[in-house]
Amino acid sequence: MTWETVIGLEVHVQLATRSKLFCDCSTVFGDDPNANVCPVCLGLPGALPVTNREAVRLGVRAALALGFAVHRTSLFARKNYFYPDLPKGYQISQFDQPLASRGALEIESADRGDVSIGLTRLHLEEDAGKSLHDRFPDQTALDFNRSGIPLAEIVSDPDLRSPAEARAYLTTLKQILQYLDVSDCSMEEGRLRVDANLSVRSEGQEALGVKQEIKNMNSFATVERSLDYLRLSQIQTLEDGATVEPNTFSAATGTLRVMRTKEASHDYRYFPEPDLPPLEIGRDWLDEERNSLPELPRALCARLGEQYGVPSYDAGVLASTRALADYFEQLAGAGVDGRTAAHWVMGSVLQDANENKGVLRVAPTRLAALIHMVGNRQVSLQTAKRLFPELAVTDEAPETLAARLEVIQIDDEDQLSEWVRTVIETHPDELSRFREGESKLMDFFMGRVMKTSRGKADPKRVQQMLLEELGR
Ligand SMILES: [Zn+2]
Repeated sequence: MTWETVIGLEVHVQLATRSKLFCDCSTVFGDDPNANVCPVCLGLPGALPVTNREAVRLGVRAALALGFAVHRTSLFARKNYFYPDLPKGYQISQFDQPLASRGALEIESADRGDVSIGLTRLHLEEDAGKSLHDRFPDQTALDFNRSGIPLAEIVSDPDLRSPAEARAYLTTLKQILQYLDVSDCSMEEGRLRVDANLSVRSEGQEALGVKQEIKNMNSFATVERSLDYLRLSQIQTLEDGATVEPNTFSAATGTLRVMRTKEASHDYRYFPEPDLPPLEIGRDWLDEERNSLPELPRALCARLGEQYGVPSYDAGVLASTRALADYFEQLAGAGVDGRTAAHWVMGSVLQDANENKGVLRVAPTRLAALIHMVGNRQVSLQTAKRLFPELAVTDEAPETLAARLEVIQIDDEDQLSEWVRTVIETHPDELSRFREGESKLMDFFMGRVMKTSRGKADPKRVQQMLLEELGR
């Protein structure tokens, strides 16, 4: 039998605000445990929440960019459950009236080409605290710094058909959220987490199979690997004639562990949050946000191809972050031909950035000046590549730097011809062997002249001169 895999994803992304969703506490990462708490985010009796406008704005921005219908009125609701890291006994979330519903995300699937994945909803909610099991032996510590951190939860339809598609979806979504400055999506610091559900059904069957869930994954590799494992185990179960149990797993420890079975599934008893009024979003505000959305990765990619003649693979690399695309466009704007600019950005610039925590260290105008020196044959391409990282640690203009390091290419005819003649005269044996037909010795003479000039001779001109001299 052929099996079809059906996957849906829930992504929790931390909105890039300075303070929490319902209080003024800082959202900064890495502070001492419980340094950023107050009566509101601890849920002490009598403390009243006030909604953070910036968090709502960022949620609206994400929703608009993902094609959602943003509701003018939405409601916060209490999701009730007991857990040590949730002192209030409930989490403020949104339930039957979320901020936004029905969006879509275009992804590139290796199997199916371009596909549109339906998005069910986007809602706002607060994060819970954190239980620390490794801080004291045989004890659990609680850190409430994360309690009240603003999150947007983005839920997809069960439209994904393979673990690889799930990964493509996540990569695309993350890139868009980063373009929007909605979140930096740092997974190492817990600002993007993924829950996934998966079922299999025989191909052609309409009804969905029994769904299993995996909670709280913090790397795309883990998502893909865990889903792959779940898919194979479900297929095995069905082929053995057994039934799939609707279990929920945790991937936290690196292996899948059952968290709860259906019998223990939660009834959260949602009800509207009595301490917060309905969330109203003005039409003007919505229009303002819609009009200020940046160009998104897909559109940018297409434009780079059209405007600068960059091949589509290269355009994809250049558009991988907005900063890199901006850099490329500034370089091209400084008079560097599109393909040359792409070559430099994908080569030296990216390499230097990777070695320096992603920082683009050399201003595009300075790189443009260096590239123009290659065009004017003041330095060879090879020398220019060597000079590039030097530009990051000096304020000197590329020309001044090249002069100081004595690498300006020499095209003075008298000087070049003197070097060429000296080399030929001091190597009579090689000269006669060359004249007897050993043409590969051309490289030998070329190397000698370049060495004599300490790399400064214009290689094109040297080659012409050698051909003339040796041909006599
Ligand atoms: Zn607080």
